[in-house]
Amino acid sequence: MPAVRAHRRPRAEGVSAFLVPTETLGFSRTEIKGKLGLRGQATAELAFDAMRVPASTRLGAEGDGFKIAMHSLDKGRVSVAAGCVGIIAGCLDAAVSYSRERQQFGRPLASFQLVQDMIADISVDADAARLLVWRAADLIDRGEPFGVAASKAKYFASEAAVRAANLAIQVFGGYGYVDEYPVQKYMRDARVMTLYEGTSQIQKLLVGRAETGVNAFV
Ligand SMILES: Cc1cc2nc3c(=O)[nH]c(=O)nc-3n(C[C@H](O)[C@H](O)[C@H](O)COP(=O)(O)OP(=O)(O)OC[C@H]3O[C@@H](n4cnc5c(N)ncnc54)[C@H](O)[C@@H]3O)c2cc1C
Repeated sequence: MPAVRAHRRPRAEGVSAFLVPTETLGFSRTEIKGKLGLRGQATAELAFDAMRVPASTRLGAEGDGFKIAMHSLDKGRVSVAAGCVGIIAGCLDAAVSYSRERQQFGRPLASFQLVQDMIADISVDADAARLLVWRAADLIDRGEPFGVAASKAKYFASEAAVRAANLAIQVFGGYGYVDEYPVQKYMRDARVMTLYEGTSQIQKLLVGRAETGVNAFV
């Protein structure tokens, strides 16, 4: 069998990271409005136009910028995954309590097998996502490599958060679609989790590369 070689990424070389003071000439930010979710948090586009920054603001060694950015993304992925565990837990709490309160055909929704099926799926996803986050966090605490564990946690927890929010809306029926209850917000907030800090496709490429030793990034 031929040996498989990981490809080097020449584009990453020569990149340095800088901490840029916001008052630097050439720096500007423009708020991005009209987001589907995360409406309590401002998001802005940052522009760096013909800026000059002193070498004293450089983070780490010259040429290490890409490595530094990727390392901080790895940690960020564990934070995003942990946030997703919170969303899934919120979906579970909301779905369980509503299913116990809401009466249909003289019985609580919780007594219908197909409603329990949805709640069981949310509950299993909550546990699985939490355990993946704990594993990644434990590797960080022990100072061991955690990048692939972070990708797995982020991929699974973010997709699970979208599934959980979707199911929670289903348990609520029509009330799930209006803002009287929180589950529509969980869906709007969950949706970005599969996108930022590396999309689900990127996490799968990272996991696939770790498993096969072949770089499928283009
Ligand atoms: C609310 C919000 C906050 C954000 N905050 C930040 C932030 O703080 N800092 C920051 O840097 N960015 C931030 N982002 C940007 C976010 O990280 C990007 O939107 C995300 O990484 C996807 O990149 P893109 O939008 O350019 O999509 P694209 O790269 O255009 O991707 C579009 C689709 O193509 C797929 N795709 C792209 N490349 C590949 C490939 N090589 N192989 C397979 N599939 C691929 C993607 O998975 C996706 O499905 C934020 C975005 C949002 C919505």
